[in-house]
Amino acid sequence: MNADYLELSDVRVSFDGFLAVDGVSMTVLQGDLRFLIGPNGAGKTTLVDAITGLAPATGSVRFGRTELLGRKVHRIARLGIGRTFQTASVFEELTVLQNLDIAAGAGRGPLTLLRARSAVPDAVAEALETVGLSARRDEKAGVLAHGQKQWLEIGMLLVQNSRVLLLDEPVAGMSGEEREQTGELLRRVGAERTVVVVEHDMDFMRTFADSVTVLHAGKVLSEGTVAQVQADEGVQEVYLGE
Ligand code: ADP
Repeated sequence: MNADYLELSDVRVSFDGFLAVDGVSMTVLQGDLRFLIGPNGAGKTTLVDAITGLAPATGSVRFGRTELLGRKVHRIARLGIGRTFQTASVFEELTVLQNLDIAAGAGRGPLTLLRARSAVPDAVAEALETVGLSARRDEKAGVLAHGQKQWLEIGMLLVQNSRVLLLDEPVAGMSGEEREQTGELLRRVGAERTVVVVEHDMDFMRTFADSVTVLHAGKVLSEGTVAQVQADEGVQEVYLGE
């Protein structure tokens, strides 16, 4: 098995005795575009918080052979675990390129920001290309459309060498065309990385998921292909009852 897999084993997160995540085990392989779905309050965000070090958890979260639980947020990020939030956190006053520079850790001095165009590092140029923002690289991030900000944020994870991408509702608020482009982008970046998409948009999930994990009340209710989870009576009950 390739070393770039994410393996959760009996993960629990408790808030004052309430188990928001209640014994979750799941494995996500590189190249397997995994969607994490479930009704509001199912524990999806808390689970991602546990993986990224933001929520205190028990059990085990391993990236390959490396245990992530118990490590600090910045250490986990440096190990290659990247995350986006529903509201893109880009620097609106800086250009697309400058945002990527900062993410790459190269933006510490004014010289970098004044750098000649020809000096764009390979990793940044590649990320620009991958997320489809090469033509907009000198525009301020603040003028980008909502969808493009999300793509920039994914680009920022790519230049940080994130091997695992945890994406929180990446297509929320996007137009149909942007959704399609985002799905294609996730397929491209997901081919060589381990990607988990927390999603409410079922059409998007059906079109692009390789596999799906359904959470309900902090537990894994179902897991498999889209067809398998859709055929699951437990899943149907949860979604019809919402
Ligand atoms: P989802 O992302 O699937 O909507 P969450 O992970 O946000 O679900 O929440 C799971 C459960 O944990 C909910 O019942 C929520 O109220 C509870 N919860 C989340 N964060 C906290 C917190 N910091 N303190 C107490 N309860 C929390």
